[in-house]
Amino acid sequence: METNTATSRSLATEAVHAGRDDLAALGLHAAPLDLSTTYPSHDSRAEAARIDEFAATGARPEGPPVYSRLDNPTVARFEDALARLEGTETAVAFASGMAALTATLLVRASAGLRHVVAVRPLYGCSDHLLSSGLLGTEVTWVDPGGISEAVRPDTGLVVVESPANPTLAEQDLAAVAEACGSVPLLVDNTFATPVLQRPRESGASLVLHSATKYLGGHGDVLGGVVACDEEFARQLRQIRFATGGVLHPLAGYMLLRGLSTLPVRVRAQSATAAELARRLDADPRVTRVHYPRIGGAMVAFEVAGDPHAVISGVRLITPAVSLGSVDSLIQHPGSISHRIVPEGDRRSGGIDDRLLRMSVGLEDVEDLWADLDAALAGERAADTADRDAAAGVPEPSLT
Ligand SMILES: *Cc1c(COP(=O)(O)O)cnc(C)c1O
Repeated sequence: METNTATSRSLATEAVHAGRDDLAALGLHAAPLDLSTTYPSHDSRAEAARIDEFAATGARPEGPPVYSRLDNPTVARFEDALARLEGTETAVAFASGMAALTATLLVRASAGLRHVVAVRPLYGCSDHLLSSGLLGTEVTWVDPGGISEAVRPDTGLVVVESPANPTLAEQDLAAVAEACGSVPLLVDNTFATPVLQRPRESGASLVLHSATKYLGGHGDVLGGVVACDEEFARQLRQIRFATGGVLHPLAGYMLLRGLSTLPVRVRAQSATAAELARRLDADPRVTRVHYPRIGGAMVAFEVAGDPHAVISGVRLITPAVSLGSVDSLIQHPGSISHRIVPEGDRRSGGIDDRLLRMSVGLEDVEDLWADLDAALAGERAADTADRDAAAGVPEPSLT
């Protein structure tokens, strides 16, 4: 499936062709969806050899697949495509972003490297997984400037997010990579996507995505992926096989399709987000706006009034956790996405109680602004929301 001739293609071209290079030769247009859990073979000696090879190396089995916890051709297409977009040798997909982070931590911990250095803020559940030590790891939280000092002989991983969830704080990834020395740097690139930032080019060895967000892009598929070199991927595949956090083939199919519109979605949604950030910044009801230098479709802002009133006041924007969908979503990190992070740790990560996080979709900017404006004005209380819905109050016009 990999061809070296493809490496000079632009991102927009890769988005619609990577992982599908062989389709024309197969006489297919859409990628085949292989839902088999198992694969028949009358040659159990050859199958035994493939299993031995995987156990010894973690390389993707060659020849017919054996069992879908080991390998799936549809998922492999998504992995190949994402690796091309991120500019890495390969990628390994998982059932969710958290399964991807778990497998990465287990690769290092199983080599006796149980110590992790991490920079706040991180996505709430990533923070929790590290802080809780659930996987037998131990975390040291540092400012980016403290990374090299915090590294110990048993440090297996440095973890950063940039732009970070939920404050959109940005890291100088090249400086962070430098500070890591020989310790692998994992960058959670969920918010930026390879359209805006390719952490591999700044020296990160592992690029993680919650594919649930922009890669899928439609709020209907859960997945995770780590883009990395083949050596690390082999260890990830072995952990994935042993622990079972595989991506379902249908999810792989949907994520591959999601990638084809990723560049246009991210660019269009980012343009709208930048305009909303500008208007929020000029609005006296908003005390602070967070919008990354590299751009993106996420906007975070602190309100002078009650953030819960804004959540109960939106009508067009979906009041829900998660992000990266074609429709806009808003949530209150202190209550939802970062609820699991203790209050003091939220504060030290810069997560204000009045912070709201908005994921900007493909709606018209004026419709979004009208909705935000009304929600900020507090014109709509929670009980009127239910009354409006019951009375069938029409949605804003589509023009
Ligand atoms: C959502 C998210 C995750 C976790 O991904 P799931 O697919 O929900 O498991 C990890 N990192 C970031 C930045 C996220 O936004």
